Amino acid sequence: MNIPYNKPYISGNELAYIEAAIREGAISGDGSFTHKCQQLLQQRYGFKKCLLTTSCTDALELAALLLGVGPGDEVIVPSYTFVSSANAFILRGATVLFADSSAESPNVDAESIRSLITPNTKVIVVVHYAGIPCDMVAINDIAREYGIYVVEDAAHALDAYYKGTPTGALGTLAAFSFHATKNVIAGEGGMLVINDEQFAARAEVLREKGTNRAAFLRGEIDRYEWVDKGSSFSPSELNAAFLFAQLEQLDHIQKRRLHLWNRYYQGLRMLELGKMAQLPLVHDYETHSAHVFYLVCANADERIALIDHLKSNGIQAVFHYLSLHQSPYYLQQHAPVKLPYTQHYAHCLVRLPLYFELTDEQLDYVVGKVLEFYA
Ligand SMILES: *Cc1c(COP(=O)(O)O)cnc(C)c1O
Repeated sequence: MNIPYNKPYISGNELAYIEAAIREGAISGDGSFTHKCQQLLQQRYGFKKCLLTTSCTDALELAALLLGVGPGDEVIVPSYTFVSSANAFILRGATVLFADSSAESPNVDAESIRSLITPNTKVIVVVHYAGIPCDMVAINDIAREYGIYVVEDAAHALDAYYKGTPTGALGTLAAFSFHATKNVIAGEGGMLVINDEQFAARAEVLREKGTNRAAFLRGEIDRYEWVDKGSSFSPSELNAAFLFAQLEQLDHIQKRRLHLWNRYYQGLRMLELGKMAQLPLVHDYETHSAHVFYLVCANADERIALIDHLKSNGIQAVFHYLSLHQSPYYLQQHAPVKLPYTQHYAHCLVRLPLYFELTDEQLDYVVGKVLEFYA
């Protein structure tokens, strides 16, 4: 048996669409495939405005620019996340304060966010870990009370819903990823969702090197000029063509991933009932994207032993994330802070293999080896 942690899924039309883009002679940014992807996602989720970007990292950087984040501003970010959720704001000279996860899940704890608010807080970043939505009623209440923007790092969370609203429509802005390790992929790619109308026009300009080229391409003006600051955030049409082939298969991809996720859950439920390991928590008012299936071991040694046991049986299980508040970069510049739940997940959480082509038999084999470890 050799079961990797992840394997990119190719849905079938990627090469044909890339060839079509080449034949059209339009392979730079903002061509027909970019617009098709954006329209598909706007229609499917009711997002006000979608802009494809070269990555989720870039979408977060565009968000930080758009919100005017700068020196003196404070941004609250969960510690249990990928570096990009914090870097986007560090690059603008802001101070990042790390919030803790909650006892029940790796998602950020609303009360931990509240404890970090100061008059300088400008943005709260949330990460829907494993594609399970954060506690958005509580978090948006805090944001409203203090007049703070909310940015969703929705890299894991395409096609999840919280109380009927899709993830990506829950904050001021949201960033998605189409990196090869995500559910729907473009190789490298991302998207910014703009939910607050006041940022829609300027987002187009900052994304197009500070020019009004987007309005020019729509025929609204007769030449395009330098009108603001900006940078280059549009992906090539070659990537957008690849992505469109994937988005057309979104239901198909999600159906399979949810099936696999549910099969893991059923197969491993006895570990949670026996209080041996913690499984993902999905409340009845929300759905998730089946991006990650994880279990949380009792302690760090048990996790190492479980990963080794799986490895010796040809199964690649991984842990993510290391906590950012314990990273060398952060500790060089700040006094250590204590975030016990973040540490707990950083030391004890294991992600099991989950990808479209994983078969039921392979999954059952993984479940069997996990149960064997705990027996
Ligand atoms: C993958 C990921 C990113 C980065 O996405 P890219 O598209 O590779 O830039 C950011 N945040 C989270 C939570 C991620 O999982």
